Amino acid sequence: QATLIQPANANIRVVVRVRPANSREQDADCRNVVKVIDDQMLVFDPKEDAQAFFFHGVQQRGRDLLKKSHKHLQFMCSPNDKTNEEIFKESTYSLITSLMDGYNCSVFAYGATGAGKTYTMTGTPDTPGITFLTMTELFNKHQELSVERDFELGITYLEVYNELVKDLLNPGPPLQLREDGNTPDELFSLLEEGNKNRTQHPTDANAESSRSHAVFQVYIQMTFKGTGEVRTAKLSMIDLAGSERGSATGYVGARFTEGANINKSLLALGNCINSLADGQRHVPYRDSKLTRLLKDSLGGNCQTVMIANVSPSSMSYEDTYNTLKYATRAKKI
Ligand code: ADP
Ligand code: MG
Repeated sequence: QATLIQPANANIRVVVRVRPANSREQDADCRNVVKVIDDQMLVFDPKEDAQAFFFHGVQQRGRDLLKKSHKHLQFMCSPNDKTNEEIFKESTYSLITSLMDGYNCSVFAYGATGAGKTYTMTGTPDTPGITFLTMTELFNKHQELSVERDFELGITYLEVYNELVKDLLNPGPPLQLREDGNTPDELFSLLEEGNKNRTQHPTDANAESSRSHAVFQVYIQMTFKGTGEVRTAKLSMIDLAGSERGSATGYVGARFTEGANINKSLLALGNCINSLADGQRHVPYRDSKLTRLLKDSLGGNCQTVMIANVSPSSMSYEDTYNTLKYATRAKKI
């Protein structure tokens, strides 16, 4: 079990997931640059002292990357032998309770193309990802609580690509943001159907799919049989666009810089999370399609899980460095 370093009420939780080296990385003359020490600490680039960074939830030697955000941000790391099931249990399982209490929740997979985002969110038939595991647990809860509550569920599956929102369950030209959903029993097949409609197949590491965000949302309305009280909550699960473009420019001050080819929504999300973790009152939700879509699912009483996916290999040195910086909300020093 992962030990969390922050109080249980922290509302942004970051998990760094290091995937196993693939055969190309194993064959090539490259080394591992990420070493997970324990659930709370990993070392990036363990060999080169000058460059070494400790990504540590409690303390950054000489760098107070997390200092200001202790109240709001949890950070944990996950060794590369963890299964999707284990990642789910440690990071996302507890969101179900918040949802049942009527709080919106969101789960993001962040990282460069090839780092393991789609594996984490969608997975494979043998190793289903966070989305399937969360939905299964949600249905279990639904069963368990059906004595006391009536449930209504609805889903949408949207793709944000080039700042346009496309409905993956109703393909066609970009649609206005929808607030309604489909019927609950169709959820699983709808998700599969939606995946087929993505701009590119989700596991296909090419330019289009790496630049689109897949946003799966579940709307839950609960009516308490005794009192008639109505409670609503929304769960958003997002396979984000590849972060590699953002790495070219990096950060300026507390904000990301926006370059010509940089994914606008990904940058805006980083800025919103930074603002929220800083406890700022102004959160720039309106800067992108994605953050507008998720406005009611970030901040406030919402629970957010960010799974930062990285490759262990020196081949992905820059991407990993930038993802870890994102994960710790690094600022230009
Ligand atoms: P991304 O969506 O970030 O571009 P993928 O999820 O498609 O990356 O992962 C790239 C490749 O690595 C895929 O072939 C995937 O099956 C594999 N992979 C990713 N994470 C893991 C993991 N934790 N265990 C085993 N294989 C993984
Ligand atoms: Mg992918």
